[in-house]
Amino acid sequence: MGRKILLENSDIPNIKSFDVFRAHGGYFSVEKALKTMAPDEIIEEVKKSGLRGRGGAGFPTGLKWTFLDRKSNKPRYLVCNGDESEPGTFKDRYLMEKLPHLLIEGMICSSFALGVNTAYIYIRGEFKYLLGILNQAINEAYKNGFLGKNILGTNFSLDMYVHPGAGAYICGEETALLESLEGKRGNPRIKPPFPAVVGLYDCPTVVNNVETLANVGYIVNFGGDAYASIGLGKSTGTKLISACGNINNPGVYEIELGMSVEDFIYKEEFCGGIKDKLELKAVVPGGSSVPIVPKELILFTASGEKRLMTYESLAEGGFESGTMLGSGGFIVYDENACIVRNTWNFSRFYHHESCGQCSPCREGTGWMEKILWRIEHGHGNMKDIDLLVSIADKIEGNTICPLGDAAAWPVASAIRHFREDFIFHVQYPEIVKNIKHGALYKYENQD
Ligand code: SF4
Repeated sequence: MGRKILLENSDIPNIKSFDVFRAHGGYFSVEKALKTMAPDEIIEEVKKSGLRGRGGAGFPTGLKWTFLDRKSNKPRYLVCNGDESEPGTFKDRYLMEKLPHLLIEGMICSSFALGVNTAYIYIRGEFKYLLGILNQAINEAYKNGFLGKNILGTNFSLDMYVHPGAGAYICGEETALLESLEGKRGNPRIKPPFPAVVGLYDCPTVVNNVETLANVGYIVNFGGDAYASIGLGKSTGTKLISACGNINNPGVYEIELGMSVEDFIYKEEFCGGIKDKLELKAVVPGGSSVPIVPKELILFTASGEKRLMTYESLAEGGFESGTMLGSGGFIVYDENACIVRNTWNFSRFYHHESCGQCSPCREGTGWMEKILWRIEHGHGNMKDIDLLVSIADKIEGNTICPLGDAAAWPVASAIRHFREDFIFHVQYPEIVKNIKHGALYKYENQD
């Protein structure tokens, strides 16, 4: 199963309460950090650990922390990005629901390292049920002297707040999140300046993902080298993977980075293989934004190596044959899955969630959705397929925020690897219109 850092104690009854969490070693890292370490030492340990942002981009966390403007005399903020909205991704909500104190512990250590006295946990609007859990955990931390003034009798003080959004996917983009936290419409800002210099209320701000911050306590306790000894190469540590789709065991798994994709899909302790003993057709391994890849390219790289669950291995081959680890939203498709319908569904989502600030995204996502609708519903023509490729190409790299790329990549990769599915939809509109979703290949096999 590999080593666990985050979910080791997740099955202990009532681990979400302060007393139980504390009895199992909780908050030890806060004592160690505040009483025995200098802030820069913690940053150094996080750099050594190789921890990378777990929200999707995979940027080195320690390096990101060094960008924080320390010369400014304005207050600094730490914001935890809990706006997990990427289709197929549901690991941060699991972490916040099961182990709220693990996140708070990591945020206290991180705030101390960064010289922050006010920290926020921003959760998506649909996570309102987590408000009570997080607020109760924060209140317990205050009562026990781990939040508030002069924590554990030291000079360090920290206040922490939970803020729910209003339910917009784009607020997961860090600058849109900051706008929303300031009470404005969640429109992404043009970068630079980056939040580390001009962030919340125009002050230096670090925005980190839930899973990223939850790892910091372990790094403080055991050191950056211990963390870096787990995983493979530059993909250090463990990763939470939320697995869903046509598999036997959907759920959230903590894996040591470096295991093979094949083992993750087929081993009983993870996905447990494809449902109903069907064949694997494709995988989206990092949430809906990353390229979809067919069976042969998710199990093996183009050069014939076993594909591994690491940032590097999943990306090998670029977008021609590779994909991305992304947020760890692992969506599995069996042989009966309709890739056209799936692509249309993703496009519908991105069009709905586009904030509308830039034309390629606002107009392009709408056009892609319309064209995919007509192909899926038996009204497409052959030119539509290349038109989709052309629109995706015009969106990619030409927008203010990454939502444009996130909308373009699923369409471009689906046509790159499954063009025959799109052609079938155009050539046999009557069949496509009359079949039940998912039955396309069963129908073909009957002939
Ligand atoms: Fe808004 Fe889309 Fe432009 Fe992002 S890419 S700023 S979501 S219009």
